[in-house]
Amino acid sequence: MKKYVVGVDVGGTNIKLGLVHPSGRVMARSHLPTKPLSSSKTKFIGVLAEAIQRIIIINGLKIEDIAGIGIGLPGLIDYPQGRVRFLPNIPGWKNVPLRVILQKKLNLPVLIDNDVKLITLAEWKFGAGRGVKHLICLTLGTGVGSGLILDNRLYRGAANAAGELGHVPLNEQGPACNCGGFGCFETYVGNQRLFALASRIMHKPNMTTEKMFALANQGDPKALRFWQEAATHIGNGLVGVVNLLNPELIIIGGGVSNNEKFLFPAIRAVIKKRAMSLQGSMVKIKRAKLGDDAGIIGAQVLVYHAKSL
Ligand SMILES: [Zn+2]
Repeated sequence: MKKYVVGVDVGGTNIKLGLVHPSGRVMARSHLPTKPLSSSKTKFIGVLAEAIQRIIIINGLKIEDIAGIGIGLPGLIDYPQGRVRFLPNIPGWKNVPLRVILQKKLNLPVLIDNDVKLITLAEWKFGAGRGVKHLICLTLGTGVGSGLILDNRLYRGAANAAGELGHVPLNEQGPACNCGGFGCFETYVGNQRLFALASRIMHKPNMTTEKMFALANQGDPKALRFWQEAATHIGNGLVGVVNLLNPELIIIGGGVSNNEKFLFPAIRAVIKKRAMSLQGSMVKIKRAKLGDDAGIIGAQVLVYHAKSL
């Protein structure tokens, strides 16, 4: 019998934990707030270890029922060593050998990886990308990330840092980006930029993509124009990737992707028009399927398939 995995998805606000069945179903969930823990690494790791043990025990399982623990973190991870290199939104985490420390505390195998890579693994094995050999999984939010499945494998790059589609420059004279570059894809389609674009188009402060979705649903022409513009930026950012990697599928996830009906047809149209004809005509664009559970489910894929990933 295959065993359960405890999946952990560390975000800037919350740490989500889930007990994942061999079928990929999340059987139980719990969460912790990130902020009170982030000031002390020792406290953070101690509380996390206790939460992992708790979710195993309260669900009537024993250590022997668990195949391992998979943890996704928002930043640069040395995957083979299980070391956190750097987390941009959680200060103080530099070169932390998290895997070794947790393995000692828990007496279970622990694997750690970048959070978007885990989301990509989940969508590939259990979500919108099942059975697809070459895909890109794009996550849109405050940050813009992506994961690449090429030739049925997660593409990691030389230092497990491949997939930073959000930081591919679209315009050498574009706006300054948090990464130190200019005109990155993220500076055109990250939430901050989309909220500013919405406020400009509506001539109102504090507009959000949720508000723009509601307005577009009522047929507001300005809101429809906003979604058309946002989709054009997203589509333009994907054209280069479609030409470079010739994927079969692009999966789009994150908050904005909920607005499928206003966004996706326009993204498809931009790619069809601007990408090279063979690559552009064969690529499909789908919405991510697994939502908030994706990181936790991806942890299970990582633990099960560690040797081939
Ligand atoms: Zn950047």
